[in-house]
Amino acid sequence: MFETGIFKTAALKFRLLSGNRIASVSKLGSAVFGRLAFALLLVAATFASFNVTSARAESLKLVATTSIVGDVVRSIAADRASVTILMGPGVDPHLYRQTQADIAAMAQADAVFWNGLYLEAQLEEFLKRLEQRTNVIAIAEAVPSEFLIEHPDYPGRYDPHVWMDPQLWRHAVLATRDALILLDPAGEEVFTANAELYLAGLDELAAYADTVLASVADEQRVLISAHDAFSYFGRAYDFEVLGIQGISTESEAGLKHIADLVDVIVERRIGAVFVETSVSDRSIRSLLEGVAARGLSVPIGGELYSDALGAPGSYEGTWIGMIDSNVTTITRALGGTAPASGMNGHLSAS
Ligand code: ZN
Repeated sequence: MFETGIFKTAALKFRLLSGNRIASVSKLGSAVFGRLAFALLLVAATFASFNVTSARAESLKLVATTSIVGDVVRSIAADRASVTILMGPGVDPHLYRQTQADIAAMAQADAVFWNGLYLEAQLEEFLKRLEQRTNVIAIAEAVPSEFLIEHPDYPGRYDPHVWMDPQLWRHAVLATRDALILLDPAGEEVFTANAELYLAGLDELAAYADTVLASVADEQRVLISAHDAFSYFGRAYDFEVLGIQGISTESEAGLKHIADLVDVIVERRIGAVFVETSVSDRSIRSLLEGVAARGLSVPIGGELYSDALGAPGSYEGTWIGMIDSNVTTITRALGGTAPASGMNGHLSAS
């Protein structure tokens, strides 16, 4: 019985790591040892640690790091899993550190789903260690690297904000589905159907975004917000994106950089700038003061969801609602045409 459990876990881990469709492979590990050797190493590690439990088909215990990752996992796993989400609304994943309760939840989970690509920078070391004991799946790392944008400050690393482009997020959805099927094969039909539903919503959202964002005039296609979370959005929809802070929120915006942005706003008569729900708006305020000192005023075009969803249970508390809200807010603030209540009339009236 005990041995069977260990064997099942080892087999699962092997399949998770060796299957092409899955995104859980540690890049460092595969680079150093080769994919197969690394998988075998982990199998050996599993045999050595006797407190690893096998996945139970009845109800999986899962942990998701961010609310965005949690939305995908919950939507696809539905009632075949209980999902604990570590970071709630407004929490900044670049700075978040695990609590004692988080560590307990992750240690007891059948699998931990995270974004990866160095988004959860402070959790990375812990998750890399946890990977030796349980299933740890970085869903954003399922996006093929040719579609990733290089991190400007860290050579060899990528911008982690892939959920901003629905066509990229599709890969994360499929990776989540595939990981769940490996964890709970009896749920395959449910997971497949739920993933199809999720992707149908994604397709509808992508079509809506294409249509309404196309109504923003060429000279207004500039997105200025607190940090560089929107590079994938900008590439997908042809917007120039200027963040006050870098890709991570760890660095303080330099005064010189703010002065440069003031020049851009004044010279190009940018229609609006945006604040973000999970980042302090202090830097945006100092930008607006700089613009005011030049005798102009630029409005705050609204609040964008960058690295966290809105309140649980609300439409904005889903990934689709989050992107719908962003697309609608950006379009309207920069002079384009979009319904105030968004794609399907679900956005709360602002
Ligand atoms: Zn971010």
